[in-house]
Order: sequence, then structure tokens, then C-alpha cells
Amino acid sequence: MSKHLAAPAGALTPSNNANVPTATTIAALDKSSGTLNNHLVSFSGEAIGDVVNAEPGYKWVTVADTGDNNAISVYMTDQEVAQIHDFGFYGQSGDLITVDGIFNLSCRQHDGLTDVHATTVSVSSVGHADPAVPSMTMLVLALALILVAILIGVVHHLLRERNM
Ligand SMILES: [Zn+2]
Repeated sequence: MSKHLAAPAGALTPSNNANVPTATTIAALDKSSGTLNNHLVSFSGEAIGDVVNAEPGYKWVTVADTGDNNAISVYMTDQEVAQIHDFGFYGQSGDLITVDGIFNLSCRQHDGLTDVHATTVSVSSVGHADPAVPSMTMLVLALALILVAILIGVVHHLLRERNM
């Protein structure tokens, strides 16, 4: 696939420095033959669907490739989940997040599930329900109502003067 950002050579030698994550994509992880298994990886995607409770203090978040059908289960802490405001569903976009974490092709802790145990989660752009948008709309609406109120007051005053 032309979409792959990670050079294959880089993906084959990810363990030179265990602290530096290997940049990859969800699609690449999905098709991974095990090269990146148990390695620290970094990828971006859209938070979608429902947050599912895991062990106490942990949750599952599904992260999907934007414009692709690939998705992966990311295991993260409650605090990491709290940063994410919007989760995508039918026709609505969720937050775009970047996840650093350990990729498990067959997770021992989670019954052989293919997952990523997040070490760092950051939100790179928020989804559809950006709170700045509705508040701006409310401000414009409030100003419009004030103008209407002033106009009514002026008209009322003029009519009163005319009738005197
Ligand atoms: Zn796991």
C-alpha cells in the first residue's frame, strides 16, 4: 500500500533504541507478520466507537485509520482516555490521536488479542463537537438579540413621540 509511512527497513530494526518508538500505521500493524510484535510503536488515528472498561484504571479505545477500514484496540489508562473528547461514529468524526505503545500481535495479558498497550496518548485534533464552535454561535446570537432589543426600544420611543 502506498499509504505506508514507515520504511520497511526501519520497521525491521526497531529495537536499536527501545525508547524511540517505530513510526507506523494502523494498516501496517493490522497486516503485520510479527516484525513489530512486542515493540514500541507510534501511530495516529481516529478514536471511534465506545470506550470499554478493562481492568480497574484501564480502558479500551478503538483507534481507526482515517479513510481506511483498519482499526486496532488500544489499552490505556483512565487518565489517557480522559484527554479524548469525541469518539467517531456513523458519519461523525472523533478526535485524532497519536498513540505510543507496545504492539502485541497476540497479547498474553488479554487472551491473544491483537492490541497496543499505550505508554503515551496525545490528542492532535478534536472531533466534530469542538466546544469553541457552539460558544461562538451563542455569542453571535446574543449580540443579534441585543440589537433587536435596541431596535424595538427605538421604534417604541419614536411611536410614543408621534402620538404625543
Ligand atoms: Zn493486551
